[in-house]
Amino acid sequence: MRIAVLTSGGDAPGMNAAVRAVVRRSLVKGFSVFGVWNGYQGMVDGEIRPLGWHDVGGIINKGGTFLGTARSEDFKRYEGRREAVKHLLEHGINALVVIGGDGSLTGAYVLANEWADHVRELGGDGDSVLHVVGLPGSIDNDLYGTDMSIGADTALNHIVRAMDDLSSTAASHQRTFVVETMGRHCGYLALMAGLAGGASWVLIPEEELDMRWHNKMIEAIAKAREAGRPHQMVVVAEGARHADGLPIQSKEVCDLISKRLNINTRLTVLGHVQRGGAPTAFDRILATRLGVAAVDFLAENPEARHCHMVGLRENRIVFTHLEEVVQKSKAVVEELEKGNYQKALELRGTSFRN
Ligand code: ADP
Repeated sequence: MRIAVLTSGGDAPGMNAAVRAVVRRSLVKGFSVFGVWNGYQGMVDGEIRPLGWHDVGGIINKGGTFLGTARSEDFKRYEGRREAVKHLLEHGINALVVIGGDGSLTGAYVLANEWADHVRELGGDGDSVLHVVGLPGSIDNDLYGTDMSIGADTALNHIVRAMDDLSSTAASHQRTFVVETMGRHCGYLALMAGLAGGASWVLIPEEELDMRWHNKMIEAIAKAREAGRPHQMVVVAEGARHADGLPIQSKEVCDLISKRLNINTRLTVLGHVQRGGAPTAFDRILATRLGVAAVDFLAENPEARHCHMVGLRENRIVFTHLEEVVQKSKAVVEELEKGNYQKALELRGTSFRN
């Protein structure tokens, strides 16, 4: 087997560890392995080079992805994917490992389905198959088919560290802090940070809020203050919404607390620091396990047509068909947009349901 590996979409700490695992396991299994630079755009442009054991040395502890990642409009078009297939064929590649989020895995699924058509139109064997395995790479932890995606734990630790740092200044000044986290459609980061950072209130996209949520939040903060806690934290996921579906702005939460309780309230929007830095041990191990499992999956059954994502559920490696991953990950967002919170949570399937 000749395997290509790429990272795509939003970068996530641990992507390097995943590439390293895929490359080294492939070499152990006797496969040739190639890196595709800059995601699907690099595939369209032919930025494909062989990778050896030492090319992936010293990267397990580095954030980001040394292969680079990109968003590619070209790859969204049939002709763009044709170019990509042409370049893969030039290297005799017949298997692809994609590390990325929902969009990247959708792209992988589309490519696997079209592969034979492209090959035929390029004058090759129309029965040929592209084996595809996806790895979940997303700090938001918003993918169906895994309890944890690569990068989420590192992002969570960044947030909790920031909350700890804010706590000391908050306590000195008797301040309340509103912290906005990433998570456009998934409240995992905000909810877990709320637990680990001792927040008084958390706002996430999966919670159905009634018209009185402001009052409940204010009551909770007031109670915590009465109990003698000198400072409070409120965590707002960027995708949290009002009952009518309109986004909740973290600034409006901050102003509300300040006005209603007449207390000193400050807003911290964490932004891109959540993506950066060295991956945690958890993310390195997760990425390594998933990368090794992806290659073993390809090796164990070379005759099968692979089109799966490898994930971790209840601490076990599981494979879910890409069609199911893509459909259910999108379905969660659609249900949230329709206000079907219970349905969205049932579909979510991540550990934070409990
Ligand atoms: P993420 O993987 O982090 O969700 P994006 O949604 O930006 O990031 O997707 C990354 C890339 O995957 C896109 O720039 C595009 O090249 C490819 N992609 C996404 N959706 C599709 C699709 N429906 N068909 C083909 N390629 C897609």
